[in-house]
Amino acid sequence: MKILVINAGSSSMKYQLIDMTDESVLAKGNCERIGIDGHFKHSTGDGRVFETDVVMTNHTEAFVQIKNALISEEYGVIKNLDEVSAVGHRIVQGGSLFSESVLVNEEVIKGIESLIPLAPLHNAAHVQGIRACLEVFGDKVPEVVVFDTAFHSTMPEKAFIYPVPYEYYEKYSVRRYGFHGTSHRYVSQRCAELMGKDIKDIKMITCHLGNGSSITAVKGGKVIDTSMGLTPLDGIMMGTRTGSLDPSVVTFIAEQEHLSAEEMDTLLNKKSGFLGISGISSDDRDVTAAAESGNHRAQLAIDILEYDILKYIGSYTAVLGGVDAIVFTAGIGENQSSHRSSVCHALSFMGVKIDDKLNEQMIRGKEGKISTEDSTVEVYVIPTNEELVIARDTMALVTK
Ligand code: ADP
Repeated sequence: MKILVINAGSSSMKYQLIDMTDESVLAKGNCERIGIDGHFKHSTGDGRVFETDVVMTNHTEAFVQIKNALISEEYGVIKNLDEVSAVGHRIVQGGSLFSESVLVNEEVIKGIESLIPLAPLHNAAHVQGIRACLEVFGDKVPEVVVFDTAFHSTMPEKAFIYPVPYEYYEKYSVRRYGFHGTSHRYVSQRCAELMGKDIKDIKMITCHLGNGSSITAVKGGKVIDTSMGLTPLDGIMMGTRTGSLDPSVVTFIAEQEHLSAEEMDTLLNKKSGFLGISGISSDDRDVTAAAESGNHRAQLAIDILEYDILKYIGSYTAVLGGVDAIVFTAGIGENQSSHRSSVCHALSFMGVKIDDKLNEQMIRGKEGKISTEDSTVEVYVIPTNEELVIARDTMALVTK
């Protein structure tokens, strides 16, 4: 069975075609600058690459590019579209409506649409992606939706209700939802496999550290708390996002600078974090390089990131009543061994001990344990694979 995984954004659409017999990636690519000018890149598992500037005015035209590439004689990986058994879509916001993946029907599309106020850019784009898929692939190909928020739906009320007047939860569904759930779910399950234990018996903290970052406390395979909130702005500091702040910082700066809510939103989401503090870049590699050459603000940005990670691990250890495993994943978590080292050495008071050599080697897609045998907490680096989770959920639902 071959499954097409789609991640539709407002101006981009990423895809992977996965062969479920061995879970290999047959082809992947990205339609960029949809509705602007358009750039399309497609590559196959056996190393063929096709790249072109092509106008795509909407998501349907992007789907046509994907379809043509998949069946192309030169760059294709299938003979005809019938070989695609189903399509799985990544959806950012499932709200309180969706606690697990589901098959798409009109009611489900309406549900995702109803959540647009909570994730305006993302959910609107996902709906466009679902409808475009239907237009190009037809209704014989079942579609499944997999939600970033779903894995976090097990959080108890005390973890997801904000201490603002309760009426805003009732009126507008203002609460903590959490994001990157598909990634946290993948790495937590994989961690249990690597530990050779039943996930029901493990307390773990999973650290998804990328451009956007979130940390999650998982007990017995279920999320009990997570750092992102109503939106992916909350929690630890990120590439361009603040993470948690004293809310008065927002109203104070807005008043001083005469900024509108929208301008403030841009400042908090796009101009802060690594970029805002260092003044150099949102990219960890650039900031680390600048810190190494003596730039104080770059070093400060790194110190804040590592301090934030440490604080979350500390508080989630308390929330979990102890911790058996810590997992690092995503761009920074998988590659920046220096942050893993700083954080883990600071955790030595609770028996965390890593092998520095192993830690340095565990980069660029390598998976494994970096803690020593006598460490009281096992520490892992696990490359995330959200597309695979989406493909697996899709297969499970269409073969039910
Ligand atoms: P996104 O949240 O957009 O999916 P990623 O998970 O790709 O982001 O993470 C991007 C971050 O990871 C950047 O800060 C970047 O510096 C870092 N990163 C990505 N790849 C590497 C690498 N090979 N080596 C070091 N850092 C990396």
